[in-house]
Amino acid sequence: KLHNTIQELKGNIRVFCRVRPALQSELEAAGSGTEPVATSFPTAGDLLGRGVEIVVPGNLSGQAPQKHSFGFDKVFAPTATQESVFEEISELVQSALDGHKVCIFAYGQTGSGKTYTMLGSESQRGIIPRAIQQIFEGSRALGTQGWMFTMQASMLEIYNEEYKDLLARGKGTGKKHNVVHDASGVTTVSDLTLVDVDGPSAVQSLLSRAMEKRSVGCTAMNEQSSRSHMVFSLRIDGVNASSQLKVGGVLNLIDLAGSERVKESGATGVRLTEAQNINKSLSALGDVIFSLANKDKHVPFRNSKLTWLLQPCLGGDAKTLMFVNVSPATEYANESLCSLRFASKVN
Ligand code: ADP
Ligand code: MG
Repeated sequence: KLHNTIQELKGNIRVFCRVRPALQSELEAAGSGTEPVATSFPTAGDLLGRGVEIVVPGNLSGQAPQKHSFGFDKVFAPTATQESVFEEISELVQSALDGHKVCIFAYGQTGSGKTYTMLGSESQRGIIPRAIQQIFEGSRALGTQGWMFTMQASMLEIYNEEYKDLLARGKGTGKKHNVVHDASGVTTVSDLTLVDVDGPSAVQSLLSRAMEKRSVGCTAMNEQSSRSHMVFSLRIDGVNASSQLKVGGVLNLIDLAGSERVKESGATGVRLTEAQNINKSLSALGDVIFSLANKDKHVPFRNSKLTWLLQPCLGGDAKTLMFVNVSPATEYANESLCSLRFASKVN
């Protein structure tokens, strides 16, 4: 089966797929006679660089293995480096400096490489640190043409359909937040910590501060980091000293909650609520992007805290990029198939 053979850029929404390398444990986990890796990539033809194939193994009730093919705006095979991934999005990042609203999401099951793609590590820096560096370098370069920029960063988490400020300190911790958008598309989150940042190192220390907060939750709340969405947001305001021209851009970088379907039937209590909220917000995100791509009159932004927060940065002149991260492992082929289907629905 071939989904999306004809790739059209629908408006400002693009979908990139990234398949991470197989982990040693996955290679070892496959029993003898089982192919540990389920994904492959076209080596010729019109899906070269844009296609991914996945084989879902057969089962005991006699179902034969099934191969599914997908096409996206771009597909990164396991060999793709952090640098080569960033190269493909640097133009999009740059457009936030020109006054655009930009959203980059990472979607996929837990363990598929979302955080690696968005944040990475010190030696394998991901999109967020590279984007920040580019924004500051770009703003300096524009300085020679009379542009002055101010940047404000915020970081929040959406857990169980509630906003949490990842940069809050002391009395600010644990406050409830509301989101309002004014007519010009400027978003205000009540009581959210906004930090003026003047360079990459300032942002880097905010990131560590936020990550610390997120990981505290992680042990305390059963790996909350994979059960919550993380939204890093950089507001970029520029004014030109000679022309008095103004630009206001926003760069939103989002590490989504794991998309794996927790069986709602088996889960109870906190786990059940989490699962329902994640399902709700990820499908709301899918519906919004789908309906924007479809150019529908009514876009259901209000159906989740995530889509409501990001409303001005989705649709209109905003630019949206979704990464669908997948594991190459046969073990997770069914879950990967779900992610690829979700992504091809919004593509
Ligand atoms: P997620 O955030 O989706 O739960 P992670 O980003 O934490 O997944 O990735 C799971 C594991 O796979 C981590 O150990 C990570 O370092 C590794 N990994 C993910 N993507 C890559 C990649 N492209 N190259 C090498 N290792 C990766
Ligand atoms: Mg993660």
